Amino acid sequence: MNKIKIINGELKVPDQPVIPYIEGDGIGKDITGPSKKVIDAAVEKAYSGKRKIIWKEVLAGEKAFRKTGNYLPDETIKAFQEYLVGIKGPLQTPVGEGMRSLNVALRQILDLFVCLRPVRWFKGVPSPIRYPSLVDMHIFRENTEDIYAGIEYMTGDVDAKKLLDFLVNELKVDKIRFPESSSFGIKPVSKEGSERLIRAAIQYAIYRQLPSVTLVHKGNIMKFTEGAFKIWGYDLAENEFGNQTFTWRQFEKIKDEKGQLDAESALEEAQKAGKVIIKDVITDAFLQESLLKPYNHSVIATMNLNGDYISDQLAAMVGGIGIAPGANINYLSGYAIFEATHGTAPDIAGSGKANPSSLILSGVMMLEYLGWYEAAEHVYDSMEHVFAKRKVTSDLYAQMEGAKLLSTSAFADEIIKNIH
Ligand code: NAD
Repeated sequence: MNKIKIINGELKVPDQPVIPYIEGDGIGKDITGPSKKVIDAAVEKAYSGKRKIIWKEVLAGEKAFRKTGNYLPDETIKAFQEYLVGIKGPLQTPVGEGMRSLNVALRQILDLFVCLRPVRWFKGVPSPIRYPSLVDMHIFRENTEDIYAGIEYMTGDVDAKKLLDFLVNELKVDKIRFPESSSFGIKPVSKEGSERLIRAAIQYAIYRQLPSVTLVHKGNIMKFTEGAFKIWGYDLAENEFGNQTFTWRQFEKIKDEKGQLDAESALEEAQKAGKVIIKDVITDAFLQESLLKPYNHSVIATMNLNGDYISDQLAAMVGGIGIAPGANINYLSGYAIFEATHGTAPDIAGSGKANPSSLILSGVMMLEYLGWYEAAEHVYDSMEHVFAKRKVTSDLYAQMEGAKLLSTSAFADEIIKNIH
């Protein structure tokens, strides 16, 4: 009864859904309670008791290990599978336990193929760029492929030697500069994996009436992986979303056949009709352009490693990791885990210095995913108000003149006060 379901690709959310949450290690304990309180206050304000989240704690990380001897118990995975949507605080990567990272494990087990990072600026938050108000970007980072698949061979190991032999003798590769001391990494990028990511990005842009999707890639160098990502992206936009998109590839075609003026008027017409413009930019140029002309990009679709770099740069542009929210989503199964994007910050754990904004805003993304937009708006409005009054936690206090320093829980209480 209280379970979120997905029927024919559509999320069915009861009024009182059970949402599993992981408290998290380090500052997880400091930020999770206050963040839940903020989300509850916004839901109460928006729906006056008709809608309510039923929180269900599930274990992972240090707390799970202490209680069960396992860092990621099966019950936790089962809870996310059963209830579809959940939220988590940061988890410490266990050392020497044979597991690369609990976060990576969760993403892989649930096949959460989109890492979504919306990046926007709140008035008053210190930023290293001159016009942070122009930043409003939504990163769709592919989460399951690329160099992150972990196919790597260390020089000197038997498998590295086998791979070298295969490359040299079978494939006649003669471009390895120092063969005997080379390590190797393999980068799988599939049509299927790229398409499901790009499809989700285009659907998101259409649904939210955003102006463009930029495919970010290094296809000039990696032609058959990153270059193919671009081509598959253009093919998909033109074949599946022909009436709702206009691609730069179509622009180029019109330009070649009919000239620049015709191409420009076709683009203008598409923009007037509210079509999503699909473009592509090489990664290095994108990193530069996102700083200089952030307004040129709205939704960004990219592969795993590019997405990693881009997410951190864009987060820094609007106030850093203490603020940037994120989610890992499989839009087909409905599975979604919303999360603070920073780590466990052991240096400030338990001190009341942690900024809970990243987790709170992840909770807001969760509300939007559930379709509870009114509650989400209450948190945005209130946070804007609190930041504008320069009431902040210690990470931002250090960079702001005339600010008022609040502890983690006092900052959350201030947001709740403003919601009321
Ligand atoms: P970190 O993000 O924990 O800390 C980096 C710096 O940012 C520290 O100075 C910290 O005090 C500060 N910081 C981080 N979050 C903050 C917040 N909310 N408010 C104020 N300051 C904040 O990165 P790290 O030190 O490299 O990693 C520590 C542990 O966290 C490692 O075990 C790592 O594997 C793990 N980690 C987990 C996640 C995750 O669960 N998603 C992400 C990154 C790192």
